[in-house]
Amino acid sequence: MSLLLTGGMGYIGSHTVVQLLDLGQDVVILDNLSNASEKVLERIEEITGKQPLFVKGDICNRDDLNRVFTEHQIDAVIHFAGLKAVGESNEIPLSYYHNNVSGSVTLFQAMADHNVKQLVFSSSATVYGEHNLSPLIETMPTSATNPYGKTKLMIENILFDLAKSDSEWSIINLRYFNPIGAHASGLIGENPNGIPNNLLPYVAQVAVGRLELLSVFGDDYDTPDGTGVRDYIHVVDLANGHVKALEKLSALSGCYAINLGTGNGTSVLEIVNTFSSVCGHEIPYQVVPRRAGDIATVFANAEKARSLLGWQAEYDLNTMIEDTWRWQSSNPEGY
Ligand code: NAD
Ligand code: UDP
Repeated sequence: MSLLLTGGMGYIGSHTVVQLLDLGQDVVILDNLSNASEKVLERIEEITGKQPLFVKGDICNRDDLNRVFTEHQIDAVIHFAGLKAVGESNEIPLSYYHNNVSGSVTLFQAMADHNVKQLVFSSSATVYGEHNLSPLIETMPTSATNPYGKTKLMIENILFDLAKSDSEWSIINLRYFNPIGAHASGLIGENPNGIPNNLLPYVAQVAVGRLELLSVFGDDYDTPDGTGVRDYIHVVDLANGHVKALEKLSALSGCYAINLGTGNGTSVLEIVNTFSSVCGHEIPYQVVPRRAGDIATVFANAEKARSLLGWQAEYDLNTMIEDTWRWQSSNPEGY
């Protein structure tokens, strides 16, 4: 099978490329490198012994897309490319709507024109909004509170409409919970630009001495220790979820939303304590007020992925944090 991975140089994309190359699939990456380093290619080759084809280009650019679909025989697309910072999306919403929504529509038009109608899309648990109680299940109503989340919801809805209009499409919207961890080699991992927004890269940078102190956003939530609870999932488990989704696509018609989570919730303080024991020293932190827009508890009902894809998460929290630490401590400044 020959696969196009938009955004395949990024955090989740690069781990998925590794899994696919290890399985002997042909991979073409289209990435504009807006949030990735070209060094990822060397690292992928070091891990797999293989070089994926890389095209530097943009999903918003129809010529770039035409070039890829004309020069390569593509069977299916995994669409990771997008901007992903919630806070930034409030500041520059037009960039988010342009890059994520217009870019996705441009990609889907190019796919239709080249008769490529199998797609896996990177959605997010953020589409469950603020009002559903965990465990979150795919049949719950969706909503979004910030431009980033709205782009994910809009793209999901575009894809549901597209599949309704033409039964040749098979589409899976994978709703990721909180991806963390890194490849066991320590060669690829999460490499945020600037100060990290997400918990794990922040803790990892405190642990390695790049940042001084973690701010814990609130300890007065209605959770066992008062801090926020999330469903952290190993990025390699997530990558394997894409492999399973691809295997399923040719047997499906229509558009399906599927959670990729472990089904377990972990609090901020549990993360901090586990990280301390893995890296062997204390992680200094202070409790500060809640972060606007945060909710207390988010975790998945992971049953649909198990029954429809035959997939379930395999790595435990300790392994996720050991792998995060191996990546961070061997690449303290990132790539
Ligand atoms: P990432 O930023 O590491 O990867 C995204 C990649 O897309 C980057 O390599 C970037 O250079 C590329 N890109 C961005 N805009 C592009 C464009 N217009 N054309 C071509 N390439 C472009 O992010 P990630 O964590 O790997 O996330 C991948 C996808 O999963 C994103 O769509 C994100 O919204 C979604 N997602 C991520 C998380 C998370 O916590 N990491 C959670 C839920 C959903
Ligand atoms: N969090 C925190 N300090 C940080 C970053 C995050 O206490 O510097 C908390 C946040 O309030 C939430 C959890 O960690 O309870 C996960 O946050 P993240 O931004 O990683 O994921 P999301 O909230 O988008 O699920």
